[in-house]
Amino acid sequence: MGNSIEENVNKIIKDLPKGVKLVAAGKGQSTIDIAKAVKAGIQIIGENYIRDAKNIYNQIKNLARLHFIGIPEQTKHDLLRTKNLMMFDMIETIDSVEIAGEINKKLTEVNKVMPILIEVNSGRESQKAGVLPDQVIDVIKEVAEFENIKVLGLMTMGSTPHQSIKNQKNRSNVKKCFKVTKKLFDEIKEMNIKNVDMKYLSMGMSNSYKIAIKEGANIIRVGSKIFGERN
Ligand SMILES: *Cc1c(COP(=O)(O)O)cnc(C)c1O
Repeated sequence: MGNSIEENVNKIIKDLPKGVKLVAAGKGQSTIDIAKAVKAGIQIIGENYIRDAKNIYNQIKNLARLHFIGIPEQTKHDLLRTKNLMMFDMIETIDSVEIAGEINKKLTEVNKVMPILIEVNSGRESQKAGVLPDQVIDVIKEVAEFENIKVLGLMTMGSTPHQSIKNQKNRSNVKKCFKVTKKLFDEIKEMNIKNVDMKYLSMGMSNSYKIAIKEGANIIRVGSKIFGERN
């Protein structure tokens, strides 16, 4: 049942406004399916776990980029190995000065600068990852001091329960989250903080990426709409 990965990718890319980057969220997917997505035109793979990233890295490294989209605190032990860090072209989910500092320290040893996004807990939910909206500016000012880290924007999950985006209340909640994040993004851009270049706003998943694009996202992260529902 359902369409092929290739059909899914083509369908999403066809309607993507110019300048919006599509990240294929690869968690739980086989190397074969990720290779299929790359062949169909995916240029960035998002991985939540280091083990998954390692499994695909050698196959995709010359064909697609790799973004870390997992929870740094959860994967810290593996993420903070220099060799593992070096697989990634961007870390989208930095949620504290501490983790940024630890990554910076590792990268100083190898003289690499890592592009990162700050994850915003735009729905202010206690169980969600990310920096609370009113603390984002302070966190960015501190992270900007790290020489081997370059802040390139913001990322948010929003408050959507995965399935029920068709529910009007959930739609309006997620939209609110995206608006909060976009407003912050513009505000920080205006501030012209040294060593910060507000280029990317990563918002929206399978069920919310169309809303996210309307609200100003230029990176979307799509999993199940490409690979099918996860079990
Ligand atoms: C899994 C995941 C996605 C994609 O979710 P889907 O609903 O399957 O599109 C996007 N962002 C992050 C951080 C994820 O972990």
